[in-house]
Amino acid sequence: MNHPSAIVLLSGGLDSSVALALSLRKQTIKLALHINYGQRAARSEALHAAAVAEFLGVPFRVLELPWFESFDSGLLGTAEIPSPSRTDLDDLNTSQQTARAVWVPNRNGIFIEIAAGFAEQYGADYVIVGFNREEAQTFSDNSQAYVEALNQALRYSTANGVRIVSPTAHMDKVEIVETALSIKFPLELLWSCYFSTKKMCGACESCMRLKRALEINNSAHHELFAN
Ligand SMILES: [Zn+2]
Repeated sequence: MNHPSAIVLLSGGLDSSVALALSLRKQTIKLALHINYGQRAARSEALHAAAVAEFLGVPFRVLELPWFESFDSGLLGTAEIPSPSRTDLDDLNTSQQTARAVWVPNRNGIFIEIAAGFAEQYGADYVIVGFNREEAQTFSDNSQAYVEALNQALRYSTANGVRIVSPTAHMDKVEIVETALSIKFPLELLWSCYFSTKKMCGACESCMRLKRALEINNSAHHELFAN
């Protein structure tokens, strides 16, 4: 049997970077695809995603989707991005509010369908995505159920039956950080912040979840954050 191959959707954040690192053990990664959709963090994300791809020795490409400017989202700069407190992270109501503030219309759906097109073109079996169990509670497009639904649909829309795989989907942030530390992944390569600043802001929900997971793993890495 041929060694399976994959395309990875790489934002440069914790989840997709660890998903890529884990996938290298099982699949040949033909391309890491990073998408610039005009997000506030685009500049930092692209630099860090490129650094992750280089570190892991994977071909890298940035795809520009400028028409996302037609959409409203905190991530696209048309609304405020909330700064939740530590206790807010476990409060489902508050998390749902912050999730709505940073929701981008069908973003993951659009990205995954594009990546599946690249996978078919490259003759790849899989698209690797970095979902996580913690955020699947508030982001339905991060869930294992969504992966299964996509795989049903891709049987119809790709000639080679591309499948979506997320090696991090069953883990929460603490477990993903634990995995990153255990494989000695250089954390300074990551960009998980919703903003593009010199250092990660340390205050947005994405930073807060990463910070908490690092602290629980006794690996605070204060130098990664501005606050
Ligand atoms: Zn941040």
